[in-house]
This record gives sequence, structure tokens and C-alpha cells, in this order.
Amino acid sequence: MIKEIEQVFKRPANYGMVGDGFRVYNYFPTGFNDRMRVSPFLMLDFNPEFNFGPSDTPRGVGSHPHKGFETVTIAYKGSVAHHDSKGNSGVINAGDVQWMTAGAGILHKEYHEENFSKTGGAFQMVQLWVNLPRANKLAPAGYQAIEAAQMGKVILDNNGGTVNVIAGECNGVKGPAKTFTQMNVFDIRLNENGKLNTLVPQNHNCNMLVVEGAVEVNGKTASEHEFVLFKNLGDGINIHATKNSVILLLSGLPINEPIAQYGPFVMNTREELYEAIDEFNAGKFGVLN
Ligand code: MN
Repeated sequence: MIKEIEQVFKRPANYGMVGDGFRVYNYFPTGFNDRMRVSPFLMLDFNPEFNFGPSDTPRGVGSHPHKGFETVTIAYKGSVAHHDSKGNSGVINAGDVQWMTAGAGILHKEYHEENFSKTGGAFQMVQLWVNLPRANKLAPAGYQAIEAAQMGKVILDNNGGTVNVIAGECNGVKGPAKTFTQMNVFDIRLNENGKLNTLVPQNHNCNMLVVEGAVEVNGKTASEHEFVLFKNLGDGINIHATKNSVILLLSGLPINEPIAQYGPFVMNTREELYEAIDEFNAGKFGVLN
């Protein structure tokens, strides 16, 4: 049975800057704020293609903390660099993904890669926050650099395109990301008239963002930058691209626990937030200049 669509949302009206390097529209929780309907995903920021001019000083956001969840950066265009207080660093380029587990607490900084900054150019990116269940909120901080070549690849029939499986499983092909709860994160690239028919478990919360292009999905139209929320009924997803399209599809088993958030800390209770703030102020997340 086909998964029915609950609603197709337009792009939020206004963008915000994260530091000076990320020009993002917040699809949730600002645009759509029923957090339990998108769990285990906490936040979706999308920087649609934007041309940043050349800069000698890399744009981005300086050292800041996180605790209790994971940050996932998907680079569609441009290059993003990362450093954290656990000594991890890396650069992701177009098609790559950086999956950071903040867990028990970390400091990191995120900015445009140095050479990309110098030349400037097209930048297109998603940052997704993935919640951790109570049992894993204090997991040791970790970092997975997932390059485009490591993704699971579903090659679609009739030159339809490719699904890069970042996490989970699409049509029998698994993705490389290690996750704490069950989820699918698919980077779908469809050629004009390309079709993807796949199944997502009925008990997953499921949504998708049209990063580029336009599609018909399960009987509705979704245009560029629109966001589709599926009902938790049925499992079939049938996408037909009416133009060359790039789609981010997210699904996951909901984490049915209370969410307590203060900025970059996401815990279950207020007391745990106070604890996170105290730990950060006491320097327990390490040092990062
Ligand atoms: Mn961050």
C-alpha cells in the first residue's frame, strides 16, 4: 500500500545565517514544529544553492558545543571543513557526508574549506540533527567521514538515476553510516523522467526535501525546495522526476521520549540541560580554538 502524503510544505519564507558561512532555511523545527512527527530527526537546515564570493578568511561558524545528539552535514556543492575537541578533522566535498556524534559532549567548528573560500563558488548544503535515545545520549563523541564513493548505490532502471544510500537500506542496498536507532537517509538523484519505487517501513516517520528539480510523489506534486511529510500509513514510495532532480529522503523509527532543548544541547529533561551547561562552562567538552 502506498504511503499517503500528509502535507507538502513550501520553503520557509526567510533564511537565517549560521555564522557567516551557512545561509539556511529551517524546515523543522521552525517551519514545521511537531517534533514527534519528524523524530528521530530534530532539525533540518537547508542552504539552497548560493554563490559565496571569494574570501581570504573562510566563512563559517567558530568553536561551539553540542551534547545529546548527532549533527549530519550533507555537502551537495562546495566544500566544508570541520575540527573538533576530540582531535577529529576533515573536509567534505560535493557528494560527501560528515556524521558527528556529539553524544556526551564536544566542541566543534564548521566552515568553508580554505581553497573553496579563496575562489568562492556555488554552495549547497543540508545540516540535519539526529536525536539520540536516552540510552545513548552519553555515548562517546565520534566522527564518521563518509565519502561519495563509500555510499551504497542503487542504479535505477532506464537511466533513471542513482540513489546514494547514506544510512539504512534502499531496495536491498545498505548505507555506510553507523546509527544508534533505525533510520534511512537517501541522497536521490533522478534524471528527467527517472523513477524510484521503494518501500519505507510504515512505523517510520518519513519526509523528503526537493533539493533541486521537481517531482511527482505518491500522487502529489513537489516543486523545488518543497518539503513533503508522509503519513505513517502504508509503505510504498513512488517518485517520478519531471525534471532532473535531487531529493533528500529521511525516515526513521520515532524516539518516543521527551525532548528538552537549549540551543546546541538536546536532552530529555531540564535538569540534564542545566548539567550540560555546567559541563560546558567547566571546560569538560575539551578545548578547541
Ligand atoms: Mn555545530
